[in-house]
Amino acid sequence: MVKASQSFEQSSVVGKVSSHQQPLCPQSGWPGKYVPLITLKSLLLPHALEQLDVTSCYAFCSDSSCPVVYFSQEGKAFDITDLKVTVFQKAIGQVADVDLPVCYCFGWSRQRIQKEIQQFKTGEQILGEITAHIQAKRCGCEVNNPQGSCCLSNVRRILAEIASRGGEPKA
Ligand SMILES: [Zn+2]
Repeated sequence: MVKASQSFEQSSVVGKVSSHQQPLCPQSGWPGKYVPLITLKSLLLPHALEQLDVTSCYAFCSDSSCPVVYFSQEGKAFDITDLKVTVFQKAIGQVADVDLPVCYCFGWSRQRIQKEIQQFKTGEQILGEITAHIQAKRCGCEVNNPQGSCCLSNVRRILAEIASRGGEPKA
């Protein structure tokens, strides 16, 4: 759990935050994106869920160098240790060989994408499969994906990363 109230006071020196402005992460200053409350209710661990203020609006910080995942303008923040799942945006830069979740709904991790590309599929085919599920309204990003919204951009990011390495996964 991150105490964010101090940072909020500091940022208020810069300018008064009004509700229509884009929320800024108290830790990194990164512009956040509001997520539905159901996303936090689904993905916070019990100890963090007990601190949830349901009258607040929470935003997602996608800065990969910042540990804060969700923050509210009232000064509450939840970090990566407060979630049940590995957060794609926070773990993508880690050297450690974590099986990075990329598409939370349909179970595409970096390792699975890498493996299927190595064996028989193209990136376009993988994107096509996921898109077909989305079009069939099967995806549940608001309760599965910490960013609370569609994961296709994450998939494209990993495909670009694999392509930049020549498509060959590291041994
Ligand atoms: Zn942040």
